[in-house]
Amino acid sequence: MKLTADYHTHTRYSHGKSSVLENAIWAKDQGLKEIAITDHGFSHPAFGLRKGKINPLKQDCKKASLITGVKVYTGIESNLTSINGDVDLKPKYYDDFEVFLVGIHKLIVYKLGSYFNFSFPTLFCSTFNVKPSNALVKRTTKALINAIKKNPIDMITHVNFCSFCDPVEVVKAAADYGTYIEISAKKEHVTDEQLYLMGQTGARFLLSSDAHKFSKVGDVSLAVNKLSKIDFPLEKIDNIDGRLPDFRFKNFKEKSL
Ligand SMILES: [Zn+2]
Ligand SMILES: [Zn+2]
Repeated sequence: MKLTADYHTHTRYSHGKSSVLENAIWAKDQGLKEIAITDHGFSHPAFGLRKGKINPLKQDCKKASLITGVKVYTGIESNLTSINGDVDLKPKYYDDFEVFLVGIHKLIVYKLGSYFNFSFPTLFCSTFNVKPSNALVKRTTKALINAIKKNPIDMITHVNFCSFCDPVEVVKAAADYGTYIEISAKKEHVTDEQLYLMGQTGARFLLSSDAHKFSKVGDVSLAVNKLSKIDFPLEKIDNIDGRLPDFRFKNFKEKSL
């Protein structure tokens, strides 16, 4: 299995340690054709991309593409901000970005109701290793499905990392709407059994590094090891062995013109 592209990488525009160009140069050395710079969404108080940095980020991505020959997309890893499926990339910013990821993250500014019945119990259970209630799992599952329905999301990142949903139900919704599911190589986020069952749905997948420094761009070894242990249909992964994905966000914007 050879990685074609890595659509989840961070830079110093949020809490990565490297520049856009450093990520792109390393990607070229790894033989990647494309990468996306997907720094954290605006509602993260400490690490979120600042709105005033959108234009410099876009320029850096363009320059890095020209210098390296690797296509460098301007992306974002937007945050889920409510149990209704709201996220912090709003349509007025759609023109600024080319790749639209969404994930659940800690310490995000949530709407009040979502804070008490979603964000706080999720943080509590993940921090103290407490089994989540069925109600919390249902709420999280519904929140992600709502997000997929309401927003033209390219990929849901690290399902069930520090959060608790029914991943198979989320993956089925993603399949219906043309949203990819990430198999993250940064952290273990689903069990082998869950990953196997996710692979039995109609969904499509992308492997990504979630690199926070340049030397991790394109490093998906943790995910490759995991996949090798189960009978996962590799033909459903659209960024390996020369394949490139068909992104929902791009298609959505083209149709809206
Ligand atoms: Zn993330
Ligand atoms: Zn990330």
